[in-house]
Amino acid sequence: MNQLASIRDKVLAGERLSFDDGLFLFSPEVPLNDVGQLANLVRERKNGNFAYYNINTHLNPTNVCVYRCTFCAFRSDLRDPKGYLMSDEQILQRGREAVEAGCTEMHIVGGLHHQMKFEWYLKIIQLLHEAYPRLHLKGWTAVEINWFEHLTKRPVRELLQELIDAGLGSMPGGGAEIFHPEVRDRICEHKAGAQSWLDIHRTAHELGLRTNCTMLYGHIEEPYHRVDHLIRLRELQDETGGFQTFIPLAFHPDNTGLSHIAKPSALLDLRTMAVSRLMLDNVPHIKAYWIMLGIGTAQTALSYGADDLDGTVRHELIYHDAGAETPQVLSVDDIRRLIEEAGREPVERDTLYHRVARQGDQWQAAEAVAVGA
Ligand code: SF4
Repeated sequence: MNQLASIRDKVLAGERLSFDDGLFLFSPEVPLNDVGQLANLVRERKNGNFAYYNINTHLNPTNVCVYRCTFCAFRSDLRDPKGYLMSDEQILQRGREAVEAGCTEMHIVGGLHHQMKFEWYLKIIQLLHEAYPRLHLKGWTAVEINWFEHLTKRPVRELLQELIDAGLGSMPGGGAEIFHPEVRDRICEHKAGAQSWLDIHRTAHELGLRTNCTMLYGHIEEPYHRVDHLIRLRELQDETGGFQTFIPLAFHPDNTGLSHIAKPSALLDLRTMAVSRLMLDNVPHIKAYWIMLGIGTAQTALSYGADDLDGTVRHELIYHDAGAETPQVLSVDDIRRLIEEAGREPVERDTLYHRVARQGDQWQAAEAVAVGA
């Protein structure tokens, strides 16, 4: 256990952990609680006792998708009865509902519909932004941006600028899955490769967009693929500083091409959370996405490196299609209670981590909530 002592010394001194350190921390021989305690130290150094949440909704304008990622239960073929494409009215109705429910953010992702042009995806942002300018639009993953590039043959920078001009506020972190080609080529060989994903986020950061980053774990990957993935994210963050939050996404097997694989255990969920917190020393926030983890594990994760529970979340489809048994929406009282039960102080934030103050139906974003580096 000399390596654990040396890792502890590095963490206490605020020094960076190596690839080998990350691999070691994933080893089942290293007690989970030891890894968790170290991650908690970093979590409290960066975010004190705060645990953040936001009031948000999801919009998946279509599930029709040209790709067939083996882990995906959400996609549909065009003629499948499950396939859908939302109209402008339905999209605006979702915006209205979000604003009436006090949401500060709409998270917009979906399938890559081969009959819809880039202009349709752009119009969704325009329509919502014009009608509901205070609703922050966090939309289109790097996989979608890569698809727009393919459709239009235009540079990513130009496409992103056009989306920003239309009202795009930030980008979600989906589509990263596992960067290593040994895994990526087996689970999603057709969609944006690792380099494209990273290049698109780099360009977004250069244009001033904040983005999130993710990793889908608990399927066919080995620990060294996870560590490789985390280090690639850390390197881009060293360059740009544009990532706000890392979200480890637990694989859900139901209705996917990998349904023979068991769901990751809570132990792997907590270890992945903790190792991510320790390896990503330059990313401010780590999110325990309660929809995927389940409520109990998400609460526990607040002591294993996570400082954010995501949001109240309306209309989540992607993981519920894959068998997530969590509720479709949590009330604000529920989410605050979950955080308080975990011994943390709940803070409502907006997408860019400004503290949100509410009075009746009105809300105001105040100062950025920041504790450590
Ligand atoms: S994960 Fe995304 S890109 Fe892959 S099949 Fe599902 S909807 Fe399509």
